[in-house]
Amino acid sequence: MMSASGLSIFADTLAELTADEVSDAARAGAVALWAFGVIEQHGPHLPTGTDVYLPAAKLRLTKEKLAARGINALIVPAYYWGVNHVSGSFPASFRVRPAVMAELMSDVIESLAGDGFRHLFCISGHGDALHNRTILEGIRKGVAVASIDASFLAPTRIVTRLGFAADDPQVTTFEPKPVGPARPYVDVHAGEGETSEMLASYPGLVREPLLPGLVPTNFVQADLEEWRKGLEHAKRKTPLGYLGDPAASDVAVGERSLHATAEAMADAIAARIAR
Ligand SMILES: [Zn+2]
Repeated sequence: MMSASGLSIFADTLAELTADEVSDAARAGAVALWAFGVIEQHGPHLPTGTDVYLPAAKLRLTKEKLAARGINALIVPAYYWGVNHVSGSFPASFRVRPAVMAELMSDVIESLAGDGFRHLFCISGHGDALHNRTILEGIRKGVAVASIDASFLAPTRIVTRLGFAADDPQVTTFEPKPVGPARPYVDVHAGEGETSEMLASYPGLVREPLLPGLVPTNFVQADLEEWRKGLEHAKRKTPLGYLGDPAASDVAVGERSLHATAEAMADAIAARIAR
């Protein structure tokens, strides 16, 4: 369903189905897909729900690509009260304790298993290391109490950066094909990448008139490390809230990026459930 500004957050999720429809699909072998985002500042030009909207869009595409591979999937409504460390000193960046998120995940995973789902794939819309470690922790808690194959479906570079073992039973890696031109500077938060993907999926939510006036941060790795210390460090490094080059965003690159990610995720899901 389209609202004036974008899709309903329940669009194409199991929240639009009846209980019987969910149960029948689960028992017939549908896989569950679940996105973990956060409400967090995303500069002057993107909404605070960016890290929820984008993984939701990627899961809708992944569901289509799985259907083309003969795999039925249901999308669990996105979890959006994730963990903010880096942006925690900005307004509208909610701070939720990791333990709260992990416990809630465990309960929902147990419920999904009880409904008959045998596979769950969790993806992240948010780069914060603590948020992503918490996703893996929540999955571990869930599989400890429920009979379900649940894993964190994450790009190889994220798995490597966070120090997760690539052969961890609760990790499924994927590698999207690179899209767009290579850039000399890092672009990790509300920059070219996220802005392009938002233009491609929720154009009504991007404050486009502001884009040309946003000066690129032109950060190298050392700046990124300083920013990642979080809170006041992040606020000092990026007073406007974005890290990257939002003015370089391009709707066509965003479209290709969403599809490349969904394609790689669908391949990784198909490979895991074929095991
Ligand atoms: Zn983001």
